[in-house]
Amino acid sequence: MAVMYGVNYLNRPGKGAFISPSPVGCILHRPENPRFAQSAANFQTATHYPHFLVGKDGEIVQVSDTGQKTTHVGNANAYYIGIEISSIAARPGYEHRQDPNTTRDPLTLAQAESLRRVVDWVSSTHSIPKIGPPSLSEMTNVSGIWHGFCSHADVSLVIASPGDHEEGLTDPEFLTLGIFPSSTRHAESSMTELLRKLDRQELSPADRAKADALDKFLSKLGKKISP
Ligand SMILES: [Zn+2]
Repeated sequence: MAVMYGVNYLNRPGKGAFISPSPVGCILHRPENPRFAQSAANFQTATHYPHFLVGKDGEIVQVSDTGQKTTHVGNANAYYIGIEISSIAARPGYEHRQDPNTTRDPLTLAQAESLRRVVDWVSSTHSIPKIGPPSLSEMTNVSGIWHGFCSHADVSLVIASPGDHEEGLTDPEFLTLGIFPSSTRHAESSMTELLRKLDRQELSPADRAKADALDKFLSKLGKKISP
């Protein structure tokens, strides 16, 4: 039994033990509904429900015991705790898909503070390190079972969940919560961008100058980056 002290607990029964047998990681979701009370009521009966919901005014409700799995991430339920973070609704046609506006809906200050409390509690109660979100290669290397914190979108990239939505938080918001990425996430995204430019011969004069300077430096060491 794992229930956070001092928060409203709905005591919805879980769906049995985690596989490992404790949760491996924690997924951050968006319910596509800004109304906390409505989402909380919905999670008492809906087929899909998380362990926690954090509202825009900093309200926290624990829906279910984090010692049991729930139904928030399809094929990966047996590995992850789920936290829903109240957000604006998705635009028509984007419901339960990845509406970029929903993912970018900023956390309020009260929401970020409450969410940080929940993250800290989940981290210390279940020994889940505050590391995340993972890069695509990190997520692929662990077959979508990340020992840390990530967005629903990160899991959906590796473990297909047809018909499910793929949302989460921005990288700066992870930092706000005290969750730090490994260096490869940023290195990977900037390297991917550079390679894309090289592929298409799209280097700007400034980028070309940087590449030339780096080439010159590396040639002194007997190495080269240009083909
Ligand atoms: Zn989700």
